[in-house]
Amino acid sequence: MQNLPEIDNLIKLISKLPGLGPKSAKRIILKMINNRQEILKPLSNNLSDVFKNIERCRICGTLKSNNNPCNNCEDKNKKYSKICVVENISDQWAIESSSIFQGYYHILGGTISDNSNGNNRENLLINSLIERIKNDNIEEVILATSATVEGQTTNFKISPRITGWWRNRDFR
Ligand SMILES: [Zn+2]
Repeated sequence: MQNLPEIDNLIKLISKLPGLGPKSAKRIILKMINNRQEILKPLSNNLSDVFKNIERCRICGTLKSNNNPCNNCEDKNKKYSKICVVENISDQWAIESSSIFQGYYHILGGTISDNSNGNNRENLLINSLIERIKNDNIEEVILATSATVEGQTTNFKISPRITGWWRNRDFR
């Protein structure tokens, strides 16, 4: 290979993507360089836009544009009484593409792992889930975390907080 640091760095970065190794990274880079105007330029602009404008919503955990309200939790035109709790954005996308659910999503950002050191737990959007249930008058929560030990442990920790809130509300 020629000694071009820009290309070497790009190969290293692309190789970190899921399903890609150095060999496929090189093929991708050659394709981009051979299509500078059609692929390389728009792709680099698009990546920079995503970096600047897209981040996880601090309330519901999905992806949102910094320039607009979140279309999952801040859209005033939507009024649902159901919320589906998932671990990751890829879970939300999978359920959305199946069109079996009409409601809000809440993306925890992972699981409470059994040997968690506490940091992971704080990063999960559990408090904001309870806030959303209160503020949006949610009547049904579907805990769609994975069937792994971590996913079920997470369910086990979240469920009492939700039922606790509903019980207190109904007694008022
Ligand atoms: Zn949101």
